[in-house]
Amino acid sequence: MANTEPNQRTIGAPVVSLSMPRLRRVKGRLEDRPVDGPKRVLLAAPRGYCAGVDRAVIAVEKALARYGAPVYVRKQIVHNLHVVQSLEKMGAIFVDEVDEVPEGATVVFSAHGVSPAVVSDAASRSLNTIDATCPLVTKVHREAVRFARGGLEILLIGHVGHEEVEGTFGEAPEHITIVNSPDDVDTLEVKNPDNLVWLSQTTLSVDETMDTVRRLRERFPNLQDPPSDDICYATQNRQLAVKKLAPECDVVIVVGSANSSNSVRLVEVALEYGARAAYRVDFTDEVKQEWLEGARTVGVSSGASVPEDLVQDLLDDLEDAGYKDVQAVVTAEEDLVFSLPKELRHDADGGRDERALGGRRR
Ligand code: SF4
Repeated sequence: MANTEPNQRTIGAPVVSLSMPRLRRVKGRLEDRPVDGPKRVLLAAPRGYCAGVDRAVIAVEKALARYGAPVYVRKQIVHNLHVVQSLEKMGAIFVDEVDEVPEGATVVFSAHGVSPAVVSDAASRSLNTIDATCPLVTKVHREAVRFARGGLEILLIGHVGHEEVEGTFGEAPEHITIVNSPDDVDTLEVKNPDNLVWLSQTTLSVDETMDTVRRLRERFPNLQDPPSDDICYATQNRQLAVKKLAPECDVVIVVGSANSSNSVRLVEVALEYGARAAYRVDFTDEVKQEWLEGARTVGVSSGASVPEDLVQDLLDDLEDAGYKDVQAVVTAEEDLVFSLPKELRHDADGGRDERALGGRRR
């Protein structure tokens, strides 16, 4: 009988793993060179796919199955090269704006969310829209609308140009000022320093965001807090696991794409918390032999938009290089599942999607 117990390599891996075609790993590419002591991998848990990404990717797959190819997707559905390339092979067409989508076609909005202007542009072109915005991003949109209606001036901590920030900003542009970094605080101009509230992008560094809020509060003592943190559970949990393993690591390797905010943050967090070196790769074949020179302990994690298969490829390469001992560093368990976008909750034959409505443990 097959062993169904999770092993060290699968602990913290997402429950749902989509089988996406990918390039085969080149066996034996990395050499097993001697180091001063035993070699090991510390594997972050949780890592990889979050509930919002899982939902968005399944939404595109279901839309393709329901409506047939092509299905258009505004922006990258999630910030991962492999996921985007795989969905392209299945018939998805990624566009920058809805005016590139033929009238009447089906378009999916990405997990990062869209502004009301995009929704109305899609309606004016009679597009069949499926909104795969992560519910945790939608929560930030709702807060922005509520605060704006209450007459508050919103300081939105987030990266200028990031799609999520553009979408949230678009909810109430005349009420929102973007705070791009802690250093922005000193030069920030506000209308009324006693009428401010802050919000944030969901995928930021927890530490840096708290530093920004501290500096904002020094300048604006009456700054109001949102009812709860906007940095999502997945971002926080992945950073926590890397913080725990980083001090013991000679090198940390994060699987994730360059435009994935939470993946890039994991590299920064690893360095801040004591890793001697840290790198981000899209695929394991980007790992260089010299990164492992003299390294006894290698930390491994992956961003919230990364399929687990890509991490397993990396672990296979590390095994070739002598890192056979894989120890999971577990800081949280996740079993949150989001229901699919409402347009896809029923199959074409009327059957109901089995995914739970609402969240469970995070
Ligand atoms: S990283 Fe967080 S906000 Fe973004 S899709 Fe995942 S759960 Fe949602």
